[in-house]
Amino acid sequence: MNNRIAPEGRRAPVWLCCVLIALIVLFQGVGVAPAAAPEYEVVILNGRVIDPESKLDAIRNIGISNGTIQAISATSLRGRTTILATGLVVSPGFIDLHSHGQDEENYRFKAMDGVTTALELEVGTGNTAAWYAEREGKALVNYGASIGHIPVRIAVMHDPGTFLPRGDAAHKAASESEIEEMKRQIEQGLKQGALGVGFGINYTAAASHWEILEMFRVAAKRRAPCFVHMRYAGLKEPTNSIRALEEVLAANAMTGAPLHVVHISSMGLRATPLLLQMISEAQSHGLDVTTECYPYTATQTNIESAIYDEGWQEALGIDYKDLQWVQTGERLTEESFARYRKTGGSVIGHAIPEDIARIAVASPLTMIASDGGLQNGKGHPRGSGTYARVLGRYVRELKALTLMDALRKMTVMPAQRLERIAPMMKNKGRIRVGADADLTVFDPAFVIDKSTFEEPAKYSEGIKHVLVGGVFVVKDGKLQLGVAPGRAVRAPDTK
Ligand SMILES: [Zn+2]
Repeated sequence: MNNRIAPEGRRAPVWLCCVLIALIVLFQGVGVAPAAAPEYEVVILNGRVIDPESKLDAIRNIGISNGTIQAISATSLRGRTTILATGLVVSPGFIDLHSHGQDEENYRFKAMDGVTTALELEVGTGNTAAWYAEREGKALVNYGASIGHIPVRIAVMHDPGTFLPRGDAAHKAASESEIEEMKRQIEQGLKQGALGVGFGINYTAAASHWEILEMFRVAAKRRAPCFVHMRYAGLKEPTNSIRALEEVLAANAMTGAPLHVVHISSMGLRATPLLLQMISEAQSHGLDVTTECYPYTATQTNIESAIYDEGWQEALGIDYKDLQWVQTGERLTEESFARYRKTGGSVIGHAIPEDIARIAVASPLTMIASDGGLQNGKGHPRGSGTYARVLGRYVRELKALTLMDALRKMTVMPAQRLERIAPMMKNKGRIRVGADADLTVFDPAFVIDKSTFEEPAKYSEGIKHVLVGGVFVVKDGKLQLGVAPGRAVRAPDTK
């Protein structure tokens, strides 16, 4: 009602406009235009940016230069390379704390599943310096490892096993001097930058409780976290997962070494809710204890390992028909089990009830970690599909948890687990100015795993773009070959 038209006389004279335009052109010419926005190397426009640490969940533009996030803005940004992310989620890149596949083949599957940092913390390595040197400048994603009690015990006990023990390291108690030598090698690994100490007590079944405590003591001196595959699985007293968790909780409480229990649902099986309760109680009394799970109903390990020693059916609550031979996909019988146990090799155990897998994935206590590793395309689908499966199946289809909670378990929680031993992790798992530009852009309506127990070597779908240190490793859903932006994640050298 009150619209007035400005009188002609208030307009700026034409000559003044000309002078102003001339001045702007002049300033731009000498590169000092005050109003010009900076140009970033990469800009991601109009994505739904989710940062679980700050709880940001909003449409934003992100500017990236020099490998770091330089701007997060509601207004448009200019970039030399621009990605339009309308309808897509922009998340911190996923951090996998449990990734056995540490080679080119596996890093490709990791990248296509949205993982920007893949760490081998359970089995770990026996030679930290050599392990990091092998990957320097060659990796598609960021990498890192613990110093592992398993490989150290294999070396000290002269076991013929390579990845897992098959001789004395599994079946023989260590002498006092052997324990001393293991402590020395673990200490050395930590000095060389290992991200903690890995354990697979179930695989080194003859390691005494005292031996394990001694290793925790070495870790505790540096407050290095212990990543533990526990001594027992399942429900059957007295050698069950509850007692196994008591062992490492006690070691954690006595020594002060932080504890991370790996793949809780494949150890707990039906008892998983009880283990989660124990971890929650320990946390509420101030213990530094965390855990992780993978989103599958089956395990995978070596058939010749101590896990399939006599009594496995009762311990795991499964039988021959629940075992699947990785090389052929066949289900086993008593006869084929005995045959393969002699030759050795990888076997899948369909042992985790679906409701237990879901409880573990949805629990606020767990991080998501794959435990994966493919070899020439063979293995467990978790090696290629873990992260897309949580987002597609457990978040979108089953609504078992929110998208924000799922991303928290894949990004900031694993970053926080490591940031005391490796302060560089404070700049990962977050979308914030100054953080590393490790980012995963995915379509929440379509993201899904495609790998199966029969065909594990299938890339996930719906992961559109993945950047590691500001470099595209996946772009428009396609793997980018010929780049190696992955960097070592390690503790500061304290030699
Ligand atoms: Zn394990």
